Amino acid sequence: MICLTTKSAEDTRELAGSLANLARPGDVVLLAGDLGAGKTAFAQGFGRALGVTESITSPTFVLVHTYQGRLRLVHADAYRLEHLGEIIDLGLPELLDEGAVALIEWGDRLAPALAPDFLEVRLEMGAGDDQRHLCLRTVGPGWGARLRSLTMAVARWRVTGDEWTSEGQGQPGPRGDDQ
Ligand code: ADP
Ligand code: MG
Repeated sequence: MICLTTKSAEDTRELAGSLANLARPGDVVLLAGDLGAGKTAFAQGFGRALGVTESITSPTFVLVHTYQGRLRLVHADAYRLEHLGEIIDLGLPELLDEGAVALIEWGDRLAPALAPDFLEVRLEMGAGDDQRHLCLRTVGPGWGARLRSLTMAVARWRVTGDEWTSEGQGQPGPRGDDQ
Protein backbone atom coordinates (compact mmCIF):
# COMPACT_ATOMS: atom_id res chain seq x y z
CA MET A 1 0.00 0.00 0.00
CA ILE A 2 1.30 3.43 -0.93
CA CYS A 3 -0.20 6.30 1.05
CA LEU A 4 0.01 9.86 -0.16
CA THR A 5 -1.17 13.30 0.84
CA THR A 6 -2.44 16.10 -1.39
CA LYS A 7 -2.97 19.69 -0.35
CA SER A 8 -5.59 20.89 -2.85
CA ALA A 9 -7.98 19.64 -5.50
CA GLU A 10 -5.44 20.64 -8.15
CA ASP A 11 -2.77 18.68 -6.32
CA THR A 12 -5.03 15.61 -6.44
CA ARG A 13 -5.57 16.21 -10.17
CA GLU A 14 -1.83 16.32 -10.72
CA LEU A 15 -1.33 13.13 -8.75
CA ALA A 16 -4.02 11.43 -10.83
CA GLY A 17 -2.31 12.72 -13.96
CA SER A 18 0.96 11.04 -13.05
CA LEU A 19 -0.91 7.76 -12.70
CA ALA A 20 -2.71 8.31 -16.00
CA ASN A 21 0.66 8.52 -17.72
CA LEU A 22 1.13 4.86 -16.79
CA ALA A 23 -2.30 3.79 -18.00
CA ARG A 24 -2.69 1.05 -20.58
CA PRO A 25 -5.65 -0.19 -22.60
CA GLY A 26 -8.05 -2.23 -20.48
CA ASP A 27 -6.93 -0.79 -17.14
CA VAL A 28 -9.37 -0.36 -14.29
CA VAL A 29 -8.97 2.15 -11.46
CA LEU A 30 -11.39 1.90 -8.57
CA LEU A 31 -11.94 5.13 -6.65
CA ALA A 32 -13.22 4.54 -3.15
CA GLY A 33 -14.11 7.23 -0.66
CA ASP A 34 -16.92 9.24 0.87
CA LEU A 35 -18.77 11.98 -0.90
CA GLY A 36 -16.50 14.97 -1.30
CA ALA A 37 -13.35 12.93 -0.84
CA GLY A 38 -12.13 13.92 -4.29
CA LYS A 39 -12.95 11.00 -6.57
CA THR A 40 -14.25 13.23 -9.33
CA ALA A 41 -11.32 15.61 -8.91
CA PHE A 42 -9.06 12.59 -9.38
CA ALA A 43 -10.97 11.62 -12.53
CA GLN A 44 -10.56 15.16 -13.89
CA GLY A 45 -6.80 15.07 -13.52
CA PHE A 46 -6.57 11.57 -14.88
CA GLY A 47 -8.58 12.52 -17.96
CA ARG A 48 -6.64 15.73 -18.50
CA ALA A 49 -3.39 13.77 -18.56
CA LEU A 50 -4.89 11.37 -21.09
CA GLY A 51 -5.57 14.37 -23.29
CA VAL A 52 -9.31 14.65 -22.72
CA THR A 53 -10.29 18.25 -23.47
CA GLU A 54 -13.97 18.08 -22.51
CA SER A 55 -14.73 18.92 -18.91
CA ILE A 56 -15.15 15.84 -16.78
CA THR A 57 -18.17 15.92 -14.51
CA SER A 58 -19.64 13.47 -12.06
CA PRO A 59 -21.55 10.67 -13.78
CA THR A 60 -23.82 10.21 -10.75
CA PHE A 61 -27.10 10.36 -12.65
CA VAL A 62 -26.08 8.86 -15.96
CA LEU A 63 -23.77 6.26 -14.41
CA VAL A 64 -21.24 6.30 -17.21
CA HIS A 65 -19.48 9.04 -19.18
CA THR A 66 -16.99 8.28 -21.92
CA TYR A 67 -14.30 10.61 -23.20
CA GLN A 68 -11.67 10.35 -25.87
CA GLY A 69 -8.03 11.01 -25.12
CA ARG A 70 -4.81 9.10 -25.80
CA LEU A 71 -7.00 6.21 -24.68
CA ARG A 72 -10.74 6.11 -24.38
CA LEU A 73 -11.75 6.94 -20.82
CA VAL A 74 -14.84 5.47 -19.19
CA HIS A 75 -15.86 7.26 -16.00
CA ALA A 76 -18.51 5.43 -14.00
CA ASP A 77 -20.25 6.02 -10.70
CA ALA A 78 -21.38 2.98 -8.74
CA TYR A 79 -22.61 5.03 -5.79
CA ARG A 80 -25.80 3.04 -5.52
CA LEU A 81 -25.49 -0.67 -5.25
CA GLU A 82 -28.07 -1.32 -7.96
CA HIS A 83 -25.95 0.71 -10.36
CA LEU A 84 -23.45 -2.06 -10.38
CA GLY A 85 -25.32 -4.35 -12.73
CA GLU A 86 -26.39 -1.41 -14.86
CA ILE A 87 -22.83 -0.27 -15.41
CA ILE A 88 -21.89 -3.72 -16.52
CA ASP A 89 -24.98 -3.80 -18.76
CA LEU A 90 -23.91 -0.47 -20.22
CA GLY A 91 -21.04 -2.35 -21.78
CA LEU A 92 -18.14 -1.73 -19.44
CA PRO A 93 -16.50 -5.14 -20.03
CA GLU A 94 -16.72 -4.65 -23.80
CA LEU A 95 -15.29 -1.15 -23.62
CA LEU A 96 -12.35 -2.48 -21.61
CA ASP A 97 -11.83 -5.25 -24.15
CA GLU A 98 -11.74 -2.61 -26.84
CA GLY A 99 -8.94 -0.82 -25.03
CA ALA A 100 -10.67 1.76 -22.88
CA VAL A 101 -9.47 2.68 -19.39
CA ALA A 102 -12.14 2.71 -16.68
CA LEU A 103 -12.33 4.91 -13.59
CA ILE A 104 -15.06 3.72 -11.28
CA GLU A 105 -16.16 5.86 -8.35
CA TRP A 106 -17.19 3.95 -5.24
CA GLY A 107 -15.49 1.11 -6.94
CA ASP A 108 -14.94 -1.08 -3.91
CA ARG A 109 -18.48 -2.35 -4.32
CA LEU A 110 -17.93 -3.18 -7.94
CA ALA A 111 -14.67 -4.99 -7.52
CA PRO A 112 -15.91 -8.57 -7.13
CA ALA A 113 -18.10 -8.23 -10.22
CA LEU A 114 -15.25 -7.01 -12.35
CA ALA A 115 -11.88 -8.27 -13.45
CA PRO A 116 -9.71 -9.11 -10.41
CA ASP A 117 -7.11 -6.76 -11.75
CA PHE A 118 -7.22 -3.10 -10.82
CA LEU A 119 -5.62 -0.20 -9.05
CA GLU A 120 -7.54 0.79 -5.96
CA VAL A 121 -7.33 4.42 -4.88
CA ARG A 122 -8.90 5.08 -1.50
CA LEU A 123 -9.43 8.75 -0.71
CA GLU A 124 -9.99 10.14 2.76
CA MET A 125 -10.29 13.57 4.29
CA GLY A 126 -7.14 14.92 5.87
CA ALA A 127 -6.52 17.69 8.33
CA GLY A 128 -8.21 20.86 7.12
CA ASP A 129 -10.57 21.35 4.19
CA ASP A 130 -8.02 20.98 1.45
CA GLN A 131 -5.97 18.01 2.53
CA ARG A 132 -6.70 14.48 1.38
CA HIS A 133 -4.98 11.18 2.00
CA LEU A 134 -4.89 8.72 -0.88
CA CYS A 135 -3.85 5.11 -0.44
CA LEU A 136 -3.02 3.07 -3.53
CA ARG A 137 -3.17 -0.68 -3.72
CA THR A 138 -2.68 -2.89 -6.76
CA VAL A 139 -4.75 -6.04 -7.14
CA GLY A 140 -3.74 -8.52 -9.82
CA PRO A 141 -0.83 -8.56 -12.26
CA GLY A 142 -1.79 -5.65 -14.54
CA TRP A 143 -1.00 -2.75 -12.24
CA GLY A 144 1.07 -5.00 -9.98
CA ALA A 145 3.73 -5.31 -12.66
CA ARG A 146 3.95 -1.51 -12.75
CA LEU A 147 4.38 -1.10 -9.02
CA ARG A 148 7.87 0.27 -9.32
CA SER A 149 7.05 2.92 -11.89
CA LEU A 150 3.88 3.67 -10.03
CA THR A 151 5.79 4.24 -6.81
CA MET A 152 8.21 6.55 -8.60
CA ALA A 153 5.42 8.45 -10.34
CA VAL A 154 3.84 9.47 -7.05
CA ALA A 155 7.00 9.92 -5.01
CA ARG A 156 6.48 13.63 -4.50
CA TRP A 157 3.21 13.04 -2.65
CA ARG A 158 4.70 10.58 -0.21
CA VAL A 159 4.77 11.81 3.34
CA THR A 160 7.48 10.50 5.57
CA GLY A 161 7.61 10.77 9.31
CA ASP A 162 3.93 10.31 10.08
CA GLU A 163 1.32 7.59 10.00
CA TRP A 164 0.77 8.10 6.27
CA THR A 165 4.21 6.80 5.40
CA SER A 166 3.83 3.84 3.09
CA GLU A 167 4.27 0.43 4.56
CA GLY A 168 4.88 -2.93 3.03
CA GLN A 169 6.44 -1.89 -0.28
CA GLY A 170 10.08 -2.71 0.13
CA GLN A 171 12.34 -0.48 2.14
CA PRO A 172 10.97 3.03 2.47
CA GLY A 173 14.37 4.10 3.71
CA PRO A 174 15.27 7.54 4.90
CA ARG A 175 14.25 10.70 3.12
CA GLY A 176 15.98 11.22 -0.23
CA ASP A 177 16.24 7.54 -1.03
CA ASP A 178 16.97 7.39 -4.76
CA GLN A 179 15.14 4.12 -5.43
P1 ADP B 1 -16.28 12.96 -4.81
O1 ADP B 1 -16.34 12.67 -6.27
O2 ADP B 1 -15.41 12.03 -4.06
O3 ADP B 1 -17.64 13.07 -4.18
P2 ADP B 1 -15.41 15.58 -5.64
O4 ADP B 1 -14.15 15.40 -6.39
O5 ADP B 1 -16.66 15.78 -6.42
O6 ADP B 1 -15.59 14.37 -4.61
O7 ADP B 1 -15.29 16.79 -4.64
C1 ADP B 1 -14.17 17.03 -3.85
C2 ADP B 1 -14.33 18.43 -3.28
O8 ADP B 1 -13.29 18.68 -2.34
C3 ADP B 1 -14.20 19.48 -4.37
O9 ADP B 1 -15.03 20.56 -4.04
C4 ADP B 1 -12.73 19.88 -4.27
O10 ADP B 1 -12.50 21.21 -4.71
C5 ADP B 1 -12.50 19.77 -2.77
N1 ADP B 1 -11.11 19.50 -2.39
C6 ADP B 1 -10.40 20.22 -1.48
N2 ADP B 1 -9.17 19.71 -1.31
C7 ADP B 1 -9.08 18.64 -2.13
C8 ADP B 1 -8.05 17.71 -2.40
N3 ADP B 1 -6.84 17.73 -1.75
N4 ADP B 1 -8.29 16.73 -3.30
C9 ADP B 1 -9.49 16.67 -3.92
N5 ADP B 1 -10.52 17.51 -3.72
C10 ADP B 1 -10.32 18.50 -2.82
MG1 MG C 1 -17.89 12.13 -7.56
